[in-house]
Amino acid sequence: MSTPIAPVPRPGIMDIAPYIGGEAAGTIRLASNEGALGPSPKAMEAYTRVAGSIHRYPDGGSTELREALAKRFNLDAGRIVCGAGSDELIGLLVRAYAGVGDEVLYSQHGFLMYPIAAKSVGATPVAAPETDLKTDVDAMLARVTPRTKIVFVANPNNPTGSHLTGEELARLHAGLPPTALLVIDAAYAEFAPPGGDYSSGVELVEKHANVVMTRTFSKIFALGSLRLGWSYSSAPVADVLNRVRGPFNVSGAAQAAGVAALEDGEFLERARAHNEGCRTWFVGELKALGLTVHPSIANFVLVSFQGQKPGKDDAEAARQFLKDRSILVRQMNAYGLPDCLRITIGTDEEMRAVVDALKGFLAGG
Ligand SMILES: *Cc1c(COP(=O)(O)O)cnc(C)c1O
Repeated sequence: MSTPIAPVPRPGIMDIAPYIGGEAAGTIRLASNEGALGPSPKAMEAYTRVAGSIHRYPDGGSTELREALAKRFNLDAGRIVCGAGSDELIGLLVRAYAGVGDEVLYSQHGFLMYPIAAKSVGATPVAAPETDLKTDVDAMLARVTPRTKIVFVANPNNPTGSHLTGEELARLHAGLPPTALLVIDAAYAEFAPPGGDYSSGVELVEKHANVVMTRTFSKIFALGSLRLGWSYSSAPVADVLNRVRGPFNVSGAAQAAGVAALEDGEFLERARAHNEGCRTWFVGELKALGLTVHPSIANFVLVSFQGQKPGKDDAEAARQFLKDRSILVRQMNAYGLPDCLRITIGTDEEMRAVVDALKGFLAGG
């Protein structure tokens, strides 16, 4: 019998470990960093309103949405590009700027989509080590080579929750050659406390041709199912993205809901304040239980079980214990953090349930 010969994908593709999203079959879903309060009622209304026109192709330029973003964040609408989630924009940037023989640099515990996107175009992902689960600017710069085409930084980073200050971001950028593109993935920017040391990198975008900021409607705006993200960059990079993206990459429903979500400033502030208060309370409770919680300015925390007494130092056992109580949190093996769980900040009641369950886990014999 002859073995059938199957088509072979390009180099790199079969090295990809498929991205596995957070589990969804449970009552308390804290595995995907979705907004605790759900979407803005105004966004839901806008979504419903377009039901009768879904036979029409959407505006391929996402014009109204880009103008709303420009107004809301004081940006140049001409340099905003919208995408089907920021994941699409990450993929497009890698496709446009990296290929076989090129390197894509990211931080050791950086977002998994960076190495996945790099491998999908045959480029080599290069991970720089971290210090205390935080992006180490010097370690990143030490790994820049003439082949480095893209440098990814999630700010704040998922799954660690840590962030670089505006100063640290600027130092990272200053050490890069102008031929390398710095992509600042600011998926959780809106959760950062106003007036703090956090920066989404927008001021670097305004000054330099080789910086892109990506943002999403999936997290604080809680529109994950609609797949909506956007980027802000120099005009040449925006031009490149507009050439490689699909002509109708953002659905009309997503555009309409996005515009409405941006108009609901009151909801956004409520979501931010809820997250800040609830996360602060939750972290305090976990620390009182003796758990290590890594500092986070986002809507999730990384909890370490290392150092707990035997049997209670097993993050996977804790995850199962929570799952048996219908609480879903994220396992961190794929990020090389097997002692940790990532827990999204949900509603007050949900977080109380997590604390009670973890109390039970740590107390049980
Ligand atoms: C969730 C997340 C994204 C992807 O968001 P989408 O817009 O839903 O594709 C990108 N980057 C980071 C760091 C994230 O956590």
